[in-house]
Amino acid sequence: MSDDDDIELEARLAEQAVFEPSDSFVEQANVSDPGIYEEFEENWPDCWEAAADLLEWDEEYDQVLDDSNPPFYEWFTDGKLNASANCLDRHLDERGDETAIEWVGEPVDEDDRSFTYEELHREVNECAAALRDLGVGEGDVVTMYMPMIPELPIAMLACARIGAPHSVVFAGFSADALATRMNSADSEYLVTCDGYYRRGDPLDHLEKANEGLSGVEHEVEDVIVTERLRDGDGFGHDYADNQHTYDDLIADHEGATVDPVQRDAEDMLFLMYTSGTTGQPKGVKHTTGGYLSWAAWTSQAVLDVKPDDTYFCSADIGWITGHTYIVYGPLTLGTTTMMYEGTPDHPDRDRLWEIVEEYEATQLYTAPTAIRAFMKWGAEYPDQHDLSSLRLLGTVGEPINPRAWKWYYKHIGNEDCPIVDTWWQTETGGMMVTTLPGVKDMKPGSAGPPLPGIDADVVDTNGEAVGAGRAGYLTVNKPWPGMLRTLYKNDERYIEEYWAEYSDTDSDDPEDWVYFPEDGAKLDEDGYVTVLGRVDDVLNVSGHRLGTMEIESAIVGVEGVAEAAVVGGDHPVKGEAVYAYVITEDGYEETDELRDRIIAGVEDAIGPIARPERVVFSPDLPKTRSGKIMRRLLEDIANEAELGDTSTLRNPDIVEDIQRKIRDN
Ligand code: ATP
Ligand code: MG
Repeated sequence: MSDDDDIELEARLAEQAVFEPSDSFVEQANVSDPGIYEEFEENWPDCWEAAADLLEWDEEYDQVLDDSNPPFYEWFTDGKLNASANCLDRHLDERGDETAIEWVGEPVDEDDRSFTYEELHREVNECAAALRDLGVGEGDVVTMYMPMIPELPIAMLACARIGAPHSVVFAGFSADALATRMNSADSEYLVTCDGYYRRGDPLDHLEKANEGLSGVEHEVEDVIVTERLRDGDGFGHDYADNQHTYDDLIADHEGATVDPVQRDAEDMLFLMYTSGTTGQPKGVKHTTGGYLSWAAWTSQAVLDVKPDDTYFCSADIGWITGHTYIVYGPLTLGTTTMMYEGTPDHPDRDRLWEIVEEYEATQLYTAPTAIRAFMKWGAEYPDQHDLSSLRLLGTVGEPINPRAWKWYYKHIGNEDCPIVDTWWQTETGGMMVTTLPGVKDMKPGSAGPPLPGIDADVVDTNGEAVGAGRAGYLTVNKPWPGMLRTLYKNDERYIEEYWAEYSDTDSDDPEDWVYFPEDGAKLDEDGYVTVLGRVDDVLNVSGHRLGTMEIESAIVGVEGVAEAAVVGGDHPVKGEAVYAYVITEDGYEETDELRDRIIAGVEDAIGPIARPERVVFSPDLPKTRSGKIMRRLLEDIANEAELGDTSTLRNPDIVEDIQRKIRDN
């Protein structure tokens, strides 16, 4: 395409505010009946039998929802099932030879691996037998501290098979983070690895794991070490007496089978500690029946997953997105799920596109931060590849600004794939607000309406609905199957964190209980939700409340800007002033001219009140492993304050760099 055509297309897309899904998509969509919204509303909560029906139950449940003790809701009560049997055994007859997991390893030695359902079933059984022989019993929490290697989902499913909840800790987290989580969960077992590759170089992971283990306050029974490194790349660790290699354990249990333990629908499937962007990590508890049905239903309805797909979610399994939308949702539906190890720019910036092309991926589910990076690198990378296998695109993790949305739509989806912008949280277990791709039009910048059966609203500080067009707080008025059940061993904090704000906490009436996700939002006249970011990301400039996301979106709309983060810096007169940290697009210089255009862009879009006090150019922004900008840190930097914990950062080096710029400027 010539540059002129490109500019014309850009201009047309820039104008367009509503996008319809293509007829060809709608015709084949899993959900295409617009009546589903009304139907679910009328039949609530029984509508959620549709989710339960996607599972195989050993014993039928007696009741869809038990809401007698809010906010401790129970779903599918007295139903019995096993999550690993749902992900594996039930597919063996029909799909045993089909690929379950397609693993694309860091490109050090071409060691991609794929597992059919039959093969995955066998290895999960062997791993389950090994865990059981080590003494892992039903209810024992097993911690996993592993990168994106196949043994991670295998160990998760093995735990599920024997009824041992797992707690996965991001491999990139610090030793301290591991210790804190093992202590909090009283976890006596750890599955980890010797090391892994990052941009081709071996990293010593066991050293970090061992350091973490030394901070665990109780006795750790056993540690399983997967040997990921090739011969010669090892770091020469001696294994302690309670440390076993994964391969030895599997070899000792060759061909072993373990009957899946019947679990109660409400039994814990796993614990997931939230990333801690906003403070102390919280041990979010998810259950077997409610969570799994939610994972399956949303994968089917929103990601349009079908058994014959090759579905690609580029998240890390150490994040909830990987749990729900790499492991549990896709496998429950019997599809091929991909997992890739590494980074999108190694060996080159077309890594993802190469994978999509080679494996003919049918869906791609990724994060806005990745899309903004792709945009910064330029369209020449996806343009080198045939991406025509893609049918649907998705994003999660942060609001996506319209410019990045349109870039994704055009350059990755060829203007033919619907995009689902999915709002949800670790706590919600799965998607809550997004368009059903075969039913609803898309509006870039807005996630969409709440899913059928989800009763969400935007309210003011008194809990009154604010109506269309006004900013307020997102709330969820009715429970849903995938919701967290509590914070691990801390019912009080569960109520405090998520319910106290808008509920009558003395009441037994579920009508008086409202879930508060702590996000700001706005509704439009069609009921579409624009998420404005976290409540604590709202700035107060001279008495005006400004959403950081709105300002960021205005800045990213300026030509030459790839990514922006806005925080409040203390200001003697205004209270808070807008600090903007900006990454430029490749090919653009960090000039005063660009700075002026950024300031003008914000004034145009929002008004002079939002005018940035400082615009700081930076090659990168501090991000968590899940790709979220650590605004809390940027705020500390703006205020030249003591920095909090940086141990969960993906790129800690950038912090000093930015600090220097603020100081020297
Ligand atoms: P912590 O709760 O520990 O601070 P976290 O909130 O980053 O960590 P997650 O559960 O991974 O952990 O993130 C959920 C949050 O991500 C949501 O509350 C919301 O702020 C943001 N988010 C996720 N998806 C979207 C989306 N599509 N649009 C806007 N915001 C989103
Ligand atoms: Mg959160």
